[in-house]
Amino acid sequence: MTKPALPPLREVIARHGLSASKALGQNFLLDEQLLDRIAAIPGSLEGQQVLEVGPGPGGLTRALLRAGAVVTAIEMDRRCLPALAELGEAFPGKLRVIEGDALKIDPKTLFDGPYHIASNLPYNVGTALFTGWLSSEAWPPQWLSLTLMFQEEVARRIIAEPDISAYGRLAVLAQWRSVPKLALKVHRSAFTPPPKVMSAIVHVVPDAAPDGVSMRVLERVTEAAFGQRRKMLRQSLKGMPGALDALETLGIDAQRRAETLSVEEFVSVAKVLTRK
Ligand code: SAM
Repeated sequence: MTKPALPPLREVIARHGLSASKALGQNFLLDEQLLDRIAAIPGSLEGQQVLEVGPGPGGLTRALLRAGAVVTAIEMDRRCLPALAELGEAFPGKLRVIEGDALKIDPKTLFDGPYHIASNLPYNVGTALFTGWLSSEAWPPQWLSLTLMFQEEVARRIIAEPDISAYGRLAVLAQWRSVPKLALKVHRSAFTPPPKVMSAIVHVVPDAAPDGVSMRVLERVTEAAFGQRRKMLRQSLKGMPGALDALETLGIDAQRRAETLSVEEFVSVAKVLTRK
């Protein structure tokens, strides 16, 4: 199918007066080649449903549409809506724009079937949205993949392995039943305006969930353990009924600190406690 010719993003931004708002975390991507590379990260999107949070002037949106996706975009800044309406006209029936706060909209109400999520997330709400998507009660979740831009420091926390300072609750949440990968580093100069820090795209696909583990219990264990990450587990977990017995049953030395435990070890502790 021939792709519609679109005006340059700079022209769209100028014509619609979309000066970037810091409060809304607006750092726009204008390089169409980079945007096409990002849209290719989930694999073929031909005919696939995609949720995009924060389309802004529509740079990533147009790349997703060019890749053949059917896009539902949630945007809080109503100044962007006319630019997005123009984009919708260029891809009839392929773009649905919802004005609102993505933190308050449950994606389950938007889709009947599976969908991907791809977004250059606003940094101020990125982690909250990400942890919400990872905390789905149903697993595998309704989303098929996440392709998300974060500050590089947050991306490193998501993919972190034990024994490094970036390893913590976010790594365990992201890794215990899904596989996150750092897909692309993005230099700050790629954004308009450039943020202070570097960024990176993380790609996540769901994996099999271990049997018999309650996510809430796992969260409580990691919250207690990493809440006092410098302390030994026998101190940080002592307020959790059954936790020290679980360590003993599993042969995990209570003198270790949280950041030395693998994701699998956290899961096994949570599994013992889930049974209680
Ligand atoms: N996707 C565009 C791009 O890549 O150039 C813009 C990305 S910009 C980093 C983040 C976008 O998210 C902005 O358009 C902003 O208005 C929007 N936004 C911020 N908070 C939001 C929220 N809670 N719900 C929906 N959109 C939000």
